[in-house]
Amino acid sequence: MKRTSLIKPVLDGVYPMISHGKGIYLYDTDGKEYLDGSSGAVTANIGHGVEEIRVAMDGQANKVSFVYRSQFTSEAAEGLATKIAEMTNGTYPWSFFVNSGSEATETALKIAVQHWQEKGKPKKNRVISRWMSYHGITLGALSMSGHPQRRERFTAMLESYPSISAPYCYRCPYNLELQECGFACAAELESAIRRTGPENVAAFIAEPVIGAAGAAISPPDGYFQELKRICEKYDVLFIADEVMTGFGRTGQILACSHWGVEPDIIAFGKGMSGGYTPIGAAVMTEKVIEPILKGSKSIMAGHTLSANPLSCAVSLAVLEYVEKNGLDKNASRSGIYLRNLLEKLSFRYPFIGNIRGKGLLIGIEFVKDIETKEPFPEEFDVTGKMISLAAENGLLLYPAAAGPEGVGGAAIIISPPLTITKREIEELIRRLNNTLYQFKEAISQDT
Ligand code: PMP
Repeated sequence: MKRTSLIKPVLDGVYPMISHGKGIYLYDTDGKEYLDGSSGAVTANIGHGVEEIRVAMDGQANKVSFVYRSQFTSEAAEGLATKIAEMTNGTYPWSFFVNSGSEATETALKIAVQHWQEKGKPKKNRVISRWMSYHGITLGALSMSGHPQRRERFTAMLESYPSISAPYCYRCPYNLELQECGFACAAELESAIRRTGPENVAAFIAEPVIGAAGAAISPPDGYFQELKRICEKYDVLFIADEVMTGFGRTGQILACSHWGVEPDIIAFGKGMSGGYTPIGAAVMTEKVIEPILKGSKSIMAGHTLSANPLSCAVSLAVLEYVEKNGLDKNASRSGIYLRNLLEKLSFRYPFIGNIRGKGLLIGIEFVKDIETKEPFPEEFDVTGKMISLAAENGLLLYPAAAGPEGVGGAAIIISPPLTITKREIEELIRRLNNTLYQFKEAISQDT
């Protein structure tokens, strides 16, 4: 059948066509079942086909689906902003709604720049980020991202923002052990700020757990506290990109809470609506909004569909579902169970080099040699092979790059819906085991 959707403009028929989804499973039009082991792109946090969300959608559609953000607000938008404030213990009473994670990070940066303009410091307009990072696909968001494959074609159009190393402890950029490193990678932020001049730096942006560009790299305790200290010392706002981690994925509503760090601005997306509708947000503290409210009074950003009432109602219903079902706590419990089973599995497969992450955001890095950590040659396309073998076994995994070009090995992310049960985790492991076994057979034939 001819496809007309440009979502995957590669080859007709490469991707199966999905007919419906229920819980952690998706079904294609040929009747094949897929266990959604990645929640799509770490998005379907509450699983598929949840009735409460359909009811909320229907309810809002019966009232109003669109009002223009500079003419009206809506009950749905205000309800959502209030829910986010409640879920973050009142620290983020101000939300600016957008339609994707990329818009959320880019808007977060604009808010930071505007904050300093309103305070009479217009030169403070640079942002510092990390080389292992992904903050989005639009040019501003991509400029802040270190993801080599996604930057490659557009480097001439990008600002070269990323500048510091990430806490990739499996392959420490300084070749140091954690106990002795003194967070050398965090100290790079101080040098970067000084080099750029604190008077020119608006913000520092980081993912609490690095997703697509690092396969669930979770930093050691103390790392983010150190970054926050440096930001405060130089009057630099700290933007947390919680697009992938926000609303329970790592076992806390905010991943930053694992380290007791409160960012000044947070970008949300993905799990904010569990994929039921396109929505994202840049949320901020009183301190950030204050000069804007005293000054020009409105944030110089926004899209026609910002704060779309239908999307806001859906997102509100999703966040209520997360809260009502304690999905953050389930992510924490299930993450431990899944991680233990993965560790056991790794003894059978010597090409599993590193298992890492937090809650239900788990990364696996593959290596050719477990002792030397030598990666597989790139042309071997381990990630691609693993993803397609898994799909044949009815398991969806998310591809990730483990590190900046040439540094890391191939990697995948396992991130099932936060609703996953023990038995479903065991089924995921069974399908993954089949996949790893087939991969092992394939490489023993190739070598
Ligand atoms: N930030 C992070 C941490 C992400 O993982 C992503 C998406 N993978 C984005 C931003 C961009 O979000 P979107 O694809 O919704 O634009």
